[in-house]
Amino acid sequence: MKELGLVEVLDGLISQLEYCKDLGVDFFVQAEAGKSGKKSAQKLIDLAGFQAEAPEDPEEWETLTKKILNCRFCPLFKTRTQAVPGEGNRKASLMFVGEAPGRDEDLQGRPFVGRAGQLLTKIIQAMGFSRDEVYIANVIKCRPPENRTPRPDEIQACSPYLLRQIELVQPKVIVALGKVAAEFLLQTTKSMSEIRGNFGEFRGIPVMPTFHPSYLVRNEGNKEIKRLVWEDMKKVMKLLGR
Ligand code: URA
Repeated sequence: MKELGLVEVLDGLISQLEYCKDLGVDFFVQAEAGKSGKKSAQKLIDLAGFQAEAPEDPEEWETLTKKILNCRFCPLFKTRTQAVPGEGNRKASLMFVGEAPGRDEDLQGRPFVGRAGQLLTKIIQAMGFSRDEVYIANVIKCRPPENRTPRPDEIQACSPYLLRQIELVQPKVIVALGKVAAEFLLQTTKSMSEIRGNFGEFRGIPVMPTFHPSYLVRNEGNKEIKRLVWEDMKKVMKLLGR
């Protein structure tokens, strides 16, 4: 049997990719791989003239954002200043899902910009990302009065928006921040202490439930909760090959 050299193997892979391109394939989604594996895969994809991921669809996003901003599906539209669609990298590998906008978010129209948001930003940075590199959204897009917990009918009415955001972003991992996000994505009623730290799954996407940053803010001096959240984030980083 003839042994192939590295150059011949690479040439073979490139011509196979070019063949796919002739057939009309115009992007590839990279499978999980280590850091060096990912780099090599990216080089090959570049050489054959492909995009590494599905291109972002600006029109879809624009339509979705408009729908959210003008939504009247539940009574929360009457008390909101503005809806908070979400923000970040629309092709992020990592997505954070919180509960609902608070006062600052309602005023600014952006997710996680208050005290809890500042803490979330620090967590994201400690994980080696910037806020722009991840996608941040909430289960509920409008602030419930006095920041009360969203009601089941509000969650139900708002759910198509988050579902569409997840479909469009196609993240590799989702972090569910707090009980409302975890219950929605994992369809569980178990307590956060029971479920945190273990990956669940939402439509094939791994979901890591962890404590909500507001809970960390409320228990500022509690190092144990901080440690647990960091343990959970380390698992997420490992899954992402970081
Ligand atoms: N808490 C949330 O769950 N989401 C925000 O956007 C802000 C605070």
